[in-house]
Amino acid sequence: MIYWLRDPLSLDRMIEKARKLVESGRVERLDGGRFNVIGDHGTYTVVQTFEGKVTCNCPGFLRVGRCSHSTAVILLTQVLRGRRARRKERE
Ligand SMILES: [Zn+2]
Repeated sequence: MIYWLRDPLSLDRMIEKARKLVESGRVERLDGGRFNVIGDHGTYTVVQTFEGKVTCNCPGFLRVGRCSHSTAVILLTQVLRGRRARRKERE
């Protein structure tokens, strides 16, 4: 259980955490491409540009430029975009 503490950037772990945030409904969509993400240590604001780039105001993102919150927003919006695309194919 300790090893990931030494490697907080483990991509697999981050994606896993992000997926859990999405699945447990802890990503809340606001207006203007903003999202509230309720993380383990607080609620953070993730902003997504129209190109799909994300920024988060948590310490992890400020330090290394990625985090489970912003990844969760990417996962969520990919699902939403995928649904839209599939609907279009049927039309
Ligand atoms: Zn974050």
